Amino acid sequence: AKTAPLPHCKFYNDSIREQQRREKMIEFQMEDALKSGQFLVYLQPKYDLHTHHVVGAEALVRWNHPTLGIIPPDQFIPLFERNGFILQLDSYIWRETCRLQRSWIDQGLSTVPISVNVSRLHLCNSEFRSTVVSLTNHYRLSPKMLELELTESLFIQDADELAQVLQSLRSDGFSINMDDFGNGYSSLNFLDGLEVDVLKLDCGFLKGHNISPRSRTILRHMIVMARELGMQIVMEGVETPEQAQLLMDYGCDIIQGFYFSRPIPAEQFAKQYLCSYSA
Ligand code: C2E
Ligand code: CA
Ligand code: CA
Ligand code: CA
Repeated sequence: AKTAPLPHCKFYNDSIREQQRREKMIEFQMEDALKSGQFLVYLQPKYDLHTHHVVGAEALVRWNHPTLGIIPPDQFIPLFERNGFILQLDSYIWRETCRLQRSWIDQGLSTVPISVNVSRLHLCNSEFRSTVVSLTNHYRLSPKMLELELTESLFIQDADELAQVLQSLRSDGFSINMDDFGNGYSSLNFLDGLEVDVLKLDCGFLKGHNISPRSRTILRHMIVMARELGMQIVMEGVETPEQAQLLMDYGCDIIQGFYFSRPIPAEQFAKQYLCSYSA
């Protein structure tokens, strides 16, 4: 049967073609971009509401493209996870992070632990553990200075194998952060079988002017649970003073979000937040 294509199909096909064109361009340029230093480490502070100290940071990649400017990770990470390039990009970001830490120590700055994102693909890679261990050795850093963030969706597959790798990394001294906990398919089961050091909880459900009693109850109990399980909670996506106040009231002190600071270039982070040891 002959039917004329619906007009919206044309737009749909156009936007798919546009998407494909964009992805081809990214794939064509990604290796040179890595070699020529176009991928930058931005740092977003983790702030302790109680002590008013910056107690850590998360490394977030940005692509400083020569013609397009700063490209956010949402526009290339999913593609790199499909084509495998994330393995190279992530280890580059980890190395850059270690290099920065070493240079700040050498400059006499009091550095803080920095967490890096670990894509799912690394966990199928038997060299994951030796990669991070040799990085911290090479830059003479305590493993405490390089924390590892894994999203909870990772914890679903190969739970046993993953638990072993993570346990070894913890015994090496690395701190494991479970990222994006509570958005997606989180299941409290994971926490039963798997010890992690930090729960990163998304503040998304605390949005809006009236934070509902239900949200408050969930939050309050998550914080208590984390404490009793010996985990630290880092609240992500904190944007408002109301959210910050609520977290303080419930005893969750460490926040990461626009309320305190957006992710900023690494050098700016050092200038703004790392103090020199006074002699
Ligand atoms: P993520 O790991 O959950 O990182 C937190 C994201 O939330 C960051 O987005 C950050 O800029 C954003 N954010 C922080 N505070 C707030 C806030 O108060 N409000 C709102 N609306 N957003 C906030 P970004 O930098 O665009 O990164 C997006 C995602 O890309 C990350 O989510 C992470 O999954 C991935 N990603 C970033 N860098 C890397 C990397 O080097 N390696 C890998 N594998 N993934 C990365
Ligand atoms: Ca993260
Ligand atoms: Ca997160
Ligand atoms: Ca996320």
